[in-house]
Amino acid sequence: MQGRIIKGIAGFYYVDTGTGLYECKAKGIFRNRKMKPLVGDMAEIEVLDEEKKLGNLTELLPRTNELIRPAVSNIDQALVIFAAKNPKPNYNLLDRFLLMMEKQGVPAVVCFNKTDLAKEKELSVLMDVYKDCGHRVIFTSVSGETGLSEIREAVDHKTTVLAGPSGVGKSSMMNLLYPDANMETGAVSEKIQRGKHTTRHSELIRVGEDTFVMDTPGFSSLFVDMFEEDEIKYYFKEFEPYEGQCRFQGCSHTHEPGCGVKQALDEGKISKTRYDNYVLIYNELKEKRKW
Ligand code: GDP
Ligand code: ZN
Repeated sequence: MQGRIIKGIAGFYYVDTGTGLYECKAKGIFRNRKMKPLVGDMAEIEVLDEEKKLGNLTELLPRTNELIRPAVSNIDQALVIFAAKNPKPNYNLLDRFLLMMEKQGVPAVVCFNKTDLAKEKELSVLMDVYKDCGHRVIFTSVSGETGLSEIREAVDHKTTVLAGPSGVGKSSMMNLLYPDANMETGAVSEKIQRGKHTTRHSELIRVGEDTFVMDTPGFSSLFVDMFEEDEIKYYFKEFEPYEGQCRFQGCSHTHEPGCGVKQALDEGKISKTRYDNYVLIYNELKEKRKW
C-alpha cells in the first residue's frame, strides 16, 4: 500500500493511506541508506496488522523537494500569516521567513489577516512595503470573512507549510476554511503546548482529499544562519531593476558610492522598511562570519 508520512515520533512513522492511518516502523533497509524517512514523504508500506493499523515502511518514493527548516518533504508552498494589527506585524521576522523559503526554493504567499482592525491607511502601508517583494500578498479578515476564498484557492490541492507568530489568526482561519479537518490535534495548536516545554513534532494535517497543511513550530526564533551575506540581495526582488545602475560590480548596496539601489530608495521607488531589513540582516551575517 502507498501513503504519506504525516508524522514521525520516536522511531514510528504515521502513514496516511487515505483509507487509514498506519503506525509504521522503518525497517533495517533504511539504516544503510542516505535517505531517511521524512514527514511529507510518499511511502510504500507493508501492513502487518490491519485491525491495529500497524505496518512497516518498505520504500520511499522520490521527493519533489526537501526542506531543512521545517524538516519536511514534497512541499508546494509556504503561507505566512501576520496580522495587519494586533499584534502589529514584525517585518523583520517576515522578511527572514521569506528569505528562508526562497533559499529552499519554496514559493511563499504572504497573508495579512485582521484587516477589520486596521485603518485603510495602515493597509496601504503594508501593501506598499510588500507589493514588489516578489510574493503574492493576500489580505484577509477571518472575523469579517473577507479574502478567504483567495486563501482557499491558494491552499486547495496543495501541501502548504503554514507559518506566522501566534495570535494572528492561523487556527481561526484554518478552522473556518476546513471545519472537518480537526486541526486542534497537532498543527496550529501551539497555544496548548506553549510554555509546557513539550517537544513539538511537525505534523501534516490532511484538510482535504489532496490538501495538506503543516504548521511550523518555533517561528519566532528564526535565524538566517543558512546564508552568506552577499547572496541576501538577490532575494530582495525589488532591488533587481536598479542593480544594473550600481557603479561597482558586486555592490552590496550598503555603503558603496554610486549605488543604483540606494538611489531608487532615495527616490521612493523601493520600500525603506524592506531596505532597512536588508541592511540589518546583511550586517548581522557579516558580523557572524567575522566571529
Ligand atoms: P493563532 O495563534 O495564529 O492560531 O491565532 P488564533 O486563531 O488563535 O486567533 C487569535 C485571536 O485573534 C483569537 O481571539 C481570534 O478570535 C482573533 N482573530 C482571528 N482572526 C481575526 C480577524 O480577522 N479579526 C479579528 N478582529 N480577530 C481575529
Ligand atoms: Zn548598489
